[in-house]
Amino acid sequence: AKTARTGGYAFFEPAMHDGLVERVRLEEDLRAALDADGFEVHYQPLFALDSQRVTGVEALLRWNHPTRGLVSPVEFIPAAESTGLIRPLGLWVLESACRQGRAWQGIAPDQDGLKISVNLSARQLDQPDLVDRIAAILEQTGLPPCRLVLEMTEGVLMENTDSTLQILNQIRNLGIRLAIDDFGTGYSSLSYLHQFPVDILKIDRSFVQDLAAGRDTALVRSIVQLAQSLGLETVAEGIEREQELDLLRLLGCTTGQGYYFSRPVPAATLSQILLRQRLE
Ligand code: C2E
Ligand code: CA
Ligand code: CA
Ligand code: CA
Repeated sequence: AKTARTGGYAFFEPAMHDGLVERVRLEEDLRAALDADGFEVHYQPLFALDSQRVTGVEALLRWNHPTRGLVSPVEFIPAAESTGLIRPLGLWVLESACRQGRAWQGIAPDQDGLKISVNLSARQLDQPDLVDRIAAILEQTGLPPCRLVLEMTEGVLMENTDSTLQILNQIRNLGIRLAIDDFGTGYSSLSYLHQFPVDILKIDRSFVQDLAAGRDTALVRSIVQLAQSLGLETVAEGIEREQELDLLRLLGCTTGQGYYFSRPVPAATLSQILLRQRLE
């Protein structure tokens, strides 16, 4: 069933999370979808807050379930992670996004080129050949590494510090940039920001919502200042109102994404957004 509240997503019944049978079925369905092109990548544009021009896109996975309809990644990513399916699935998203990103380089309005952001989950960092696979995908698709951003949550950085650090350094040595997703919601410790080779902080949507609610702006301000002092870029997630955009710009945040600009859309729709902007 589709409801307005879930933005068009089908909902798994809460009880399904608990039922072993349902979980096994979910896993089987995920596996089948991976074999049968059941997934799709949508793209949400990132905008420069001053010029309001598109500077990048975030790739967001969509599952078109044969009977349940569009299923939210919030529902199936955890299952994909616990089964390890996130590894092949994550590489599939990466390859799709890099290929699409390469195709967009010709029409991107920004001379620096459109940045392509892809989410990486903790389970993928345990994959022994991850760095080789990423390098191969860049080579095959022809996307320049400097156009790729890999996003991971703070939790990833807190786990298994030594090997994680090594892998992140290898990824960054390929020329890829790294972003911390949902920044501020985890165990934000300043020390790991120095320790890890991070380039971008993505300010979590919950803080952006607080801005609109008229609560004080100290938290966002301090995140932006922290980022500036470390030479990091800031991206605000979940901008839904002009008022939020204005406040974030005043606070010195440079880039944003959110429904105010655009929801995540299929590649063809994003192509139209890029073309339209090119004509402006
Ligand atoms: P995320 O990485 O924090 O992605 C941003 C989420 O916020 C997306 O939800 C996006 O649609 C939503 N969003 C963007 N702007 C707004 C806004 O203005 N208002 C509101 N209410 N929401 C907004 P989505 O696409 O449902 O994805 C949810 C999460 O699923 C992602 O959160 C990410 O953690 C995970 N995910 C999605 N695709 C992938 C993937 O390919 N790999 C991995 N590992 N995780 C993914
Ligand atoms: Ca993300
Ligand atoms: Ca987020
Ligand atoms: Ca998230």
